[in-house]
Amino acid sequence: MLDLLDRQPTGRWARLRDDVRRCRLRRGAWYPVLSLGPDEAVVVVRQESVIIPQAYLEIVNTRPNRWTVVPGERYAVCPNCAARVAVGTPPEQMRCAHCSGVFEFEPEHEYSAPH
Ligand SMILES: [Zn+2]
Repeated sequence: MLDLLDRQPTGRWARLRDDVRRCRLRRGAWYPVLSLGPDEAVVVVRQESVIIPQAYLEIVNTRPNRWTVVPGERYAVCPNCAARVAVGTPPEQMRCAHCSGVFEFEPEHEYSAPH
């Protein structure tokens, strides 16, 4: 059993690598990392802790602040609230209709990390 009260968030954020399909995490959305083990990470998904192999994840040390452009799909994912928003050619920046945050776009090729 995981005891959430005993764990402090690490300040890290994680998202699924683009070629991983079989997890509860949504493509392109960032999730807070609760803890990191040698092979696995615990991330918070809808207020539940979920254990994911680190090989499935891209992990960063600061909260992301750019839209993820999901390759091959015509949507971007908000870095703040994980809303999906349809985009054609990404503009320089865009306001999220759900959380009203204004963010720049990540270059599309950045979200495609083979492993
Ligand atoms: Zn948003």
